[in-house]
Amino acid sequence: MQFNVATLLVEPVGTNRSYAIDGVHESTEFNGNVNFTKTDVGILVEAQFGATASLECARCVGFYTENLKIRFEEEYLPERDITSGVLRETNEESYWINPNHILDIQPAIAEYTALEIPLKPLCSSKCLGLCTTCGTNLNSSGCECEANSGHPAFVALREKWASQSATKSNSSNSH
Ligand SMILES: [Zn+2]
Ligand SMILES: [Zn+2]
Repeated sequence: MQFNVATLLVEPVGTNRSYAIDGVHESTEFNGNVNFTKTDVGILVEAQFGATASLECARCVGFYTENLKIRFEEEYLPERDITSGVLRETNEESYWINPNHILDIQPAIAEYTALEIPLKPLCSSKCLGLCTTCGTNLNSSGCECEANSGHPAFVALREKWASQSATKSNSSNSH
């Protein structure tokens, strides 16, 4: 998502241009638009877009898609003065238009998207997560653990007794 802004940089302050944006970055799809306005020192970028991110649920570790709505405003400063050609020193505090007058909005899009991604993503507020004993995904099926609550070793022992007594009664029936 790179734009050559050489012509916009020589336009009068207040001139603006709009562009549609779409693309994919690290499995996140973007779709929206940007508006560039020439300012006295650079270009003001106003972006609004939707981002469809594939996230891993913190409870059930399943992947799901989250639709985020993002907007930001940032002023980009030219590294090279469009009329004099003089290069200036850049810093981390601003976004920069590179010496070839290319304004790349991808880094800002990635940063603002990262800010919107929940720290603890959930596929649903009602996600039941995984059983802490057997690891079954409780959203898709139940498990026996809750019925057989107690220490897992006793549950295993109880199952063993149950199967042994079943075998005994089977063999006594056959005689
Ligand atoms: Zn989940
Ligand atoms: Zn379980």
